[in-house]
Parts: sequence; structure tokens; C-alpha cells
Amino acid sequence: MKTRVFLFGKVYPRAAAPAIINAKVAVADGIIQWLGPAEQYPVPGEYAGPVALPGFIDSHVHLTATGLDLLAIDARRFSSLSDFLAALHEADREGEGLVRAWGFDPDNFRERRYPTLAELDRACPRNPLWSNHIESHGTLVNSRSLALLGISAGQPLLTGNDNQRARNFFLAAIGAQERERAILAAAELAASRGVTTLHAMEGGKLFHNKDIEAVLALQDRLPVDTVIYPQVLDVEWAWARGFTRIGGCLPLDGSSGVYTAALTRPYYQRSDSGLLYFSRAEIFNYVRQANARGMQVAMHACGDAAIDLFLDAVEADKDRQHPAVRHRIEHFELPRRDQVDRCRRLNVILSMQPAFDWFWGGPDGDYAATLGPRGWQNANPLGWAVAAGLLVAGGSDSDVTPLDPLLGIHAAINHHNPDQRISLEQAVAMFTENGALAAGLGDRGRLEPGLRADMAVLDRDPWEKSRERLKDIAVTATIRAGCVVWRAEPTGRDGQAAPAREI
Ligand SMILES: [Zn+2]
Repeated sequence: MKTRVFLFGKVYPRAAAPAIINAKVAVADGIIQWLGPAEQYPVPGEYAGPVALPGFIDSHVHLTATGLDLLAIDARRFSSLSDFLAALHEADREGEGLVRAWGFDPDNFRERRYPTLAELDRACPRNPLWSNHIESHGTLVNSRSLALLGISAGQPLLTGNDNQRARNFFLAAIGAQERERAILAAAELAASRGVTTLHAMEGGKLFHNKDIEAVLALQDRLPVDTVIYPQVLDVEWAWARGFTRIGGCLPLDGSSGVYTAALTRPYYQRSDSGLLYFSRAEIFNYVRQANARGMQVAMHACGDAAIDLFLDAVEADKDRQHPAVRHRIEHFELPRRDQVDRCRRLNVILSMQPAFDWFWGGPDGDYAATLGPRGWQNANPLGWAVAAGLLVAGGSDSDVTPLDPLLGIHAAINHHNPDQRISLEQAVAMFTENGALAAGLGDRGRLEPGLRADMAVLDRDPWEKSRERLKDIAVTATIRAGCVVWRAEPTGRDGQAAPAREI
């Protein structure tokens, strides 16, 4: 058993612990053997960077989708709709087959509007088009795609069931090689952000079950550990494949950005209040079946009506839930205050995405537009959740927001509503130890002897950086099970991924 000794300027063994200055970490077989002040450990160490934290855990990643984006046109690169349309046109001219784009958000364009169907047809006259909305709850298509889908929408933005159908159709058409390339690329991106474990939300209605099989097949080749949440309704299907978790981002409702998150009140200055994609009986039955197998259930619930429904289902079968299993709510984006207490009573874990507030919070943001000048303030209520003592795991929901835990931490301590801000310790815990607990992983999330040697190495100490600048900290290396799986360029420039294997 070969021991490797790393030397750091300082190490934070966990979010709430003081730093060990000039620290050594001795590792064998991927497990920490010893950790403490360098002078107490007589074996020389290799210098591995200024500041080490437990490796980041992103608790909500659409890994295949994130990777497919890396291979598609990025709409966020363009500041005008006409430039975006020109890029689509070039791809349509050059290639044969589906034209793919992602990250579409009309607010990012000078024109601040959606394209018309005629414009998209002019941009892509030859090939079908699939452009993701910034979230996966809306899809832009051209007439060729509408014909393939058999949808006579008459307009290019598909939401609700049409969106699910479109996404499933296009994802089925992605070839095995492209899917594999996508997953590898996304995992390398994760490693470059200090992530050592991620919860991969794969398959299901908004995606494709081929994604589950592909991530499973690739797991041993990835530079990060993946915990798969199969987003399927068939509990026995998942159980037969050895899964002990089910659901993930399985959508109980939609997203407030396209007015489909299910609320108990109407949207601001509108009469509609969102959509529930499942009946009460379906969800009750789902939770009951999963409990019978002792499986953890996770579900996407954004609006308070969706959250009510999930909590009702959990409560109804509480007596049969395995005592060691805790179910989780993904997003918990627009809850009521009373639902926080109910989550605590029912021992439910929250998996939240602070960057939602970073991008869409504030008096001029998206939430203010859809929920009104007061309604936005308690969207993504991290303050409520943490104050109530709930276990809150942090995620990006990548590709919805960037796969970047430091951005998530930054967003959590800078919530637009000061009442919903949490401390740096709490924010770092969200993206380390809480992420481990949310998936029932007892072997990581903290740095101590006997646990996995997973570390994110940073160029600066987050506790010495001002609150406003935290997201500017760079990851200089990522160590997973005692192996350096990613290292920044020696110049300190970020973004140049080294080979995924030991370097
Ligand atoms: Zn998601």
C-alpha cells in the first residue's frame, strides 16, 4: 500500500472547522490515513496548492444534457437574436441532421423577444432544429421539427407536454458515440470546477433513458464519482437494475420561467397558476412502491402546490418508509414558509440551487416578472431552510446554471433577499458534507482519516475573500481518491482541462 503525502498552505477539514495551516494529508488506497500540521508528519510531501477543502459535491446535475450542450451552439454567446439566427443558419448549411442549440433566453438578446417560426424556418431551412430554452422546460423548434414531432403548434416555443415529447424525441436520435463524448466532456468540466462527486439526474420524460445506461456504462472512466438518480416512474425497473434511489429531477411541475411551476395562487397579473404533471394517485402510488423497496425518492417540485403534493404523498406512507431512508425535494424554489416546518417534521432533505437566485432573483429579475414585486423575495429560501435545521444539499441543476460550486456558494451568501442569505460555512456545507448525506454517502464530504481523499484545491481562502468576490476564486487542482484528476495550467489560467486520468 503506497502512501502519498500532499502538502497544502492550509486545509479546511470541513465547512465549519478551523483551517490547519501548513497541512499534510497522507493518502493510501484513496483513503485519508493522516491529516494535520506538516511538522507533525515526518515524511516529505508534494506541494499541491494553497487551500484545500473537501471535494465539492454537486447534488443536481443533468450530466448527459450538460455534455450535449458542450457539443452544441451556445445561445448565451450572442447578444442579439439576429446573430443567434445567423449561427443557426451556418450550422444548417454546414451539417446534415439535427441542428442543436441551448441556453436560449430572450432576455439575453437586445431584441428581448422569441424568434417567430418563420425566422427559425429561414435560419434552418434544411434540417430539423432543437434549441433548448435556458431551462429544460421549453424548446424552440422549426417547422421541420414540428412535422417530425407531429405537432401542429403553429408557433416555435413548445412547453408542457409538447416540450417533453420534443425533448424525448430528439434525445432518442442522439447517437451512442455523441452521447459518450458528451458525458466525458461534462465530467471533465465538473472535475475542473473542484467537483469530485455529483448526483446525476438522468433519463425520464424530459430526457431519455439511454442517458441512464450511458452514464452507468461510463462510470469507471469518469474523473468524478456519479450517483445516478434514474428519472423513471417504473420502480421495479430501477430496482431490478440495482438502483436504491429513484426520481431525481422527475418533474412534479414545471418552471416559473415559463409559468408552469404549480402554485396555489395565480402568477403575477395572470389567471393561470402552473401545471402538475402527475395526479395525486400517481404520486402516492410512486412513493408507496419506492418505500416498499426501501428506496429514496427525489422529485422536482418548484411551486408550493407541487411541494404540497409531494409532502402529502410522503406523509401518507410515512409508517412504511424505511427509517434510514430520507426522501428529497429538488429545487424547493417557491415554497410557503409553513412547508419548511413540514419538511422538518417529515425528515425530508432539500436539494436547492442558489444560483437560481443569482441569475433570476432581485427586483428586476425573472422571478419579479412572474411572481410580482413581493413574490420574488422568498424564491429559493435558503435562509428559511437552514434556520429550520433542514439538511440542504447544493446543486447547479446544470445545464440550467453553470456546473460551478463556487458560484453556487457565492450565490447562497449573496441572495438578493438578505433574509434568505446563509453563512459561508453553511454554503460550503451545502456543496460538501450535505451533498454526501443527501445521497447517503457516509465516506466523503469531510476530510478526516478513514474517509475518501477527495479535495478541491483553491487559489485563495474563501474565508479571507470578500463576500462579493467569492466566485472569482479559482480551482487550481482537483484530487479524487488521492489522485490529481485535474490541474489548472501553470499560469493559473483556468479552463484548460488536463487529461481526466491521473496527471
Ligand atoms: Zn433538474
